[in-house]
Amino acid sequence: VDLAGLHPAFIFDLRYASADNFVGKAVYPVARCALRKSVAERMVHAQKLLAPKYRLIFKDCYRPDSIQWELWRAVKGTPKSSYVACPAVPPGSMHSYGVAVDVTLADRKGRELDLGTPYDTLGPAAELGHERELRASGELSEAQLGRRWILRQALRSSGMHTIPSEWWHFDAGLITELPKTYSRLDVPLEAIPVVARPK
Ligand SMILES: [Zn+2]
Repeated sequence: VDLAGLHPAFIFDLRYASADNFVGKAVYPVARCALRKSVAERMVHAQKLLAPKYRLIFKDCYRPDSIQWELWRAVKGTPKSSYVACPAVPPGSMHSYGVAVDVTLADRKGRELDLGTPYDTLGPAAELGHERELRASGELSEAQLGRRWILRQALRSSGMHTIPSEWWHFDAGLITELPKTYSRLDVPLEAIPVVARPK
């Protein structure tokens, strides 16, 4: 389902539908945030927990399998290949199953907040396991880590799981379990019905 119709506070900034991503060109034909219905409902739950102080900004949602291949071919053999799960190696990207989301926080006016690194930054500053030492060294501030904690609490309380390498990425379960329940999808983004935004 298209998330746009599910909560008026949701903000969409789908980087793969613009040139503002690590590939440097748009790979999605339309800017659409879609997830499996049960996962979309978890996002509504998380937004209700965060309201009214915070709003969710969605950076990436469901990614059709053929676009995962396109992304992979664009980065294969380059240093950027670590950004992209190889679709030939199971389980591939959870985004292709419609059960993963890249999300961050805005304030109530919709201004994106600083959670320590820009979206899609690779390296220790984006990794959950380095937060304590980066806080100790002053590379991450108390406020930045506090916001990560607020995001993580809301998403975890809504049934989402973190991964070690990216503070913005959440899965609707364990990566080892999800492919047993769900399959990869290649429904085109433009085929997902658009839902009007609620007022
Ligand atoms: Zn992701």
